[in-house]
Amino acid sequence: MVSGTPASSDSPIHVFHPIIPYCADCNRSWEADPERRLGKRFLCPISPRHVAAFVKGNPGKFWLRIEARILRYEFLTAGLLRGRMTRYKASIMMLARAVIVAVALDISKFAKPERVTACAIGAAVVVDILMNSISVSFISRFPTHALRSVLIVITSFCLTAASFGVFYSSLGHVFNNGEELGRLESVYFSFATITTVGYGDIYPAKGALAPKMLVICELLIGLFFLSVLLATHAAWVSAPPNISEPESYRKIFPDRP
Ligand SMILES: [Zn+2]
Repeated sequence: MVSGTPASSDSPIHVFHPIIPYCADCNRSWEADPERRLGKRFLCPISPRHVAAFVKGNPGKFWLRIEARILRYEFLTAGLLRGRMTRYKASIMMLARAVIVAVALDISKFAKPERVTACAIGAAVVVDILMNSISVSFISRFPTHALRSVLIVITSFCLTAASFGVFYSSLGHVFNNGEELGRLESVYFSFATITTVGYGDIYPAKGALAPKMLVICELLIGLFFLSVLLATHAAWVSAPPNISEPESYRKIFPDRP
C-alpha cells in the first residue's frame, strides 16, 4: 500500500491506482505521488524537452508515450524551418500543404502512376493535418490566442476536404452511373460530404467500394474537426464575463520604466 491510500480503496468501483511521475522520453518513472496530482506536468531531470507528467498506471504511461511521439513529429516539421521562419511555422506549413494539395489535384487526372502519386500525397497531407490538429487541440495547453486556434482548425478542415477531393478525382468512373468527376466537382463533392450536407446530386456508384470507404473516413475525420472547432469556439465565447476594471500596465509592472 502506498501512503495516502483513500479509505474507499476497498470499493471495487474506486479501485486504487497509484499516480506515478513518468517521463515518456526516458521511459522512466519515480515513486508514486501521495498527493495524486494526476495530469500535472513536470520537467524531466534529464532534459527539459522531455514529455513528463503524473500518470495513472501503465495505460497512462502508454498514452503519454503516444503524446511524446506526436510532439516529436511536430518538432520534426518545425526542424525543416530555420531562424525567423519558425515564428511563422503554422502559416508556412498551411501554405505548403495548400500548394502540395493543389499540385496533387492537378496530377490526379493524368495517367495511372500520377493518380497513385496524387492519392499518396493526399493521404500524407491528411495524416499530417490530423497529427498537428491533435497536438493543437489536445496536447498544447497554451494556445497563442483563441482566434488563432479557430483559424488553424478551419484551415485544417478545408485542407482535409481538398485532400479527399484529390482521392475522388483520381478514382475514375465510380460515381453516379459510372461517371468520372472533374477536379472541381470532386472538391465540391468532398465539401458536401465533410460538412454532412450530401445533396445527392453526386453519389458513389452501386458496388463501387473505394468511394464509399473514402466517404466513411471523410465523415469521421470531418466530425472530429467540427467537434474541435465547436469546442474551441464555445470555450472562447463562454469565458465568464470579467466585471473588474482592467488593471493599468503600470500596476501590473510597477518596476518597469
Ligand atoms: Zn526524460
